[in-house]
Amino acid sequence: MLLGIALAIAAGAAMFVVAPLLATGGAGAGSLPVDVTPLGDLKRRRLVVYENLKDLEFEYQAGKIAPQDFQSLRANYMGEAAALMAATQEAEHLKESEAMVEREVAARRARRNAPPVEDYTCPACGFENPLPVKFCGECGARITARSRKS
Ligand SMILES: [Zn+2]
Repeated sequence: MLLGIALAIAAGAAMFVVAPLLATGGAGAGSLPVDVTPLGDLKRRRLVVYENLKDLEFEYQAGKIAPQDFQSLRANYMGEAAALMAATQEAEHLKESEAMVEREVAARRARRNAPPVEDYTCPACGFENPLPVKFCGECGARITARSRKS
């Protein structure tokens, strides 16, 4: 029991010492901002595959790789690049449809909040009230839903 508490305190003290070190390490000058979205990750991987492909062709032209090895490695990279390309397009399409859904939701919200387009002409004096009102702004007569239509 006491040992457990002592260990907990020791662990807490260790975190207290280590945490600031980790924090400064993460925000240090050496760290670069990394795009961690799935789309950014796909694009980065595609770039790596293209780099590898370029290196492969360079080495083949330099005579470091046998033709059959070059062909099979190249086919591998091309397949990987095609798969990443398809995944990227899918991710972009997904992002686009998400944006479309958001626009649709915003449009519906706006329609719901907008006042119904009706005529608010007073049945008693004929004054056209600019806003939906229960009583006429000019003569004070009650404006019912039915009279609004007239
Ligand atoms: Zn009126």
